[in-house]
Amino acid sequence: MRRAACALIDLSALRHNLEKARAAAPRSRVLAVIKADAYGHGAVAAARALTGADGLAVAHLGEALALREAGIRAPVLVLQGLRGAAQLAQAAAHGLDVAVHHEAQLKALESAPAPIRVWLKVDSGMHRLGFTPRELPEVYRRLRAGGGVPVLMTHLACADDRADPSTARQLARFEQAVGKLDGESSIANSAGLLGFPDTHRDWVRPGIMLYGASPFVGGSGEREGLRPVMTLSAPLIAIRHLRAGDAVGYGGTYVCPEDMPVGVVAIGYADGYPRHAPSGTPVRMAGGRAALLGRVSMDLITVDLRGIRRPRLGDDVVLWGPGLPVEEVATRSGSIAYELLCNAGRHCHREYR
Ligand SMILES: *Cc1c(COP(=O)(O)O)cnc(C)c1O
Repeated sequence: MRRAACALIDLSALRHNLEKARAAAPRSRVLAVIKADAYGHGAVAAARALTGADGLAVAHLGEALALREAGIRAPVLVLQGLRGAAQLAQAAAHGLDVAVHHEAQLKALESAPAPIRVWLKVDSGMHRLGFTPRELPEVYRRLRAGGGVPVLMTHLACADDRADPSTARQLARFEQAVGKLDGESSIANSAGLLGFPDTHRDWVRPGIMLYGASPFVGGSGEREGLRPVMTLSAPLIAIRHLRAGDAVGYGGTYVCPEDMPVGVVAIGYADGYPRHAPSGTPVRMAGGRAALLGRVSMDLITVDLRGIRRPRLGDDVVLWGPGLPVEEVATRSGSIAYELLCNAGRHCHREYR
């Protein structure tokens, strides 16, 4: 019997999804976003599999340095940019691209000894990171004075809803802001890439779609032609025959309506399975789909085995993967696929295929 919960990572699915991104934005170069340990899939393994990408993006310098240490030579963009002059020297030494979204970063760059490729972040309406359209001309002038031509970049706040009008507004604001400035540009995350062709530009920056999940609210990766990369599974470690009226798990929130078989699976929130998955959330077993019963514990869940033919100890129970979309589990749990993948990948043993 396998020891515990396992996240099986299918690298051919990852490459397939990269090709889907390329096909959807054929005139753009692809910066594959592998921040947060490639959304839980393992950043170094993902980087090695994604040799077809034109570059990679991570959130912090530490993630970029780990890629370089592992021998990854591809262009790497640090999306949050840097904090302080020491980081700038490291980024330059390792040939990293950096985002610049704040006056403090700009100042540090102006006194940097070595040239470094800059992605200039414009706030087109998300109001998180970036210079305002009003600040942009002066910031751009200062960067050009340093010699390089920055890539002009912005980020979309509401593209996960194809009907949301704020994406068009962000696009218009970005266009107006960068209008006459020289340089490549980049707008689209996965949702922009799949839902808003006007946002494609020189570089697209897909993240979640590479891992096979849809970026859209209520969406399905499969419907977008994507393949799930992670299969999260754990062994069935007990089969109980409970009686009508027996309450299951912490708080006794599920009460058996009849005499019934209940399975115990060796995974819980400590392994990254969502704590708020309610009774009824599906799992997949050899015999079919079964439903979660009662509360998710730290390292165990209980499932309804009434519909499962001949369940056996040690059977593999799939929490998400092919045939059981992570989006479905996320929606039921009041979360998003991004969070579930990051958490499971961080806490479970990973295997690669
Ligand atoms: C995370 C991130 C992306 C990728 O977003 P997805 O929704 O996962 O495609 C793109 N650009 C920036 C700046 C990001 O932070």
